Amino acid sequence: MSEKVVVYPGTFDPVTFGHLDVIERALRLLDRVIVAVTTKPDKEPLFSLRERLELLEQSSKGINGVEVDSFSGLLVDYVKSRKAKVVLRGLRQLSDFEAEFQQATINRKLAPGIETVFVVTGARYFYLNSTMVKEIASMHGRIDCFVPKPVESALGKKFGSKRKSV
Ligand code: ADP
Repeated sequence: MSEKVVVYPGTFDPVTFGHLDVIERALRLLDRVIVAVTTKPDKEPLFSLRERLELLEQSSKGINGVEVDSFSGLLVDYVKSRKAKVVLRGLRQLSDFEAEFQQATINRKLAPGIETVFVVTGARYFYLNSTMVKEIASMHGRIDCFVPKPVESALGKKFGSKRKSV
């Protein structure tokens, strides 16, 4: 039987426990998740592409079946180049739905053979996003419950590690 591969695209600026939760849930159904970091995010990222890739590599080391890569250009072209047929996205609150629905519909128009599947994150992470983590880190708040250790240290280096008491 052929290997079931999925491409999980995103900015990952930086990777959080929410992203890892989506990857682990997907791996219960599929054989391999290619985490594909976009080289052209909408906003100027805090972490360079190289840093985002390194943090993903370090944070997913213990999970079997994960590959970390980057792509530029159209997602559907990248998916085809990796001989995959499925795009993975995570869903949190209802507010994610509209943009995700639009993107999935456009991708289906561009490449009818490629499907988007959504994984709903665990309740522990449904409120979590990279922007919030960066904001808390910039004000020296605790982020160890939101991100893996390598990301915590990298954010500490970016913002200095002075901690406010909690
Ligand atoms: P993008 O800029 O493409 O949205 P992100 O890194 O913010 O990149 O997110 C990548 C994917 O991971 C998206 O599908 C997003 O909905 C999902 N995601 C991010 N955080 C969470 C979370 N806490 N729970 C579930 N999915 C998440």
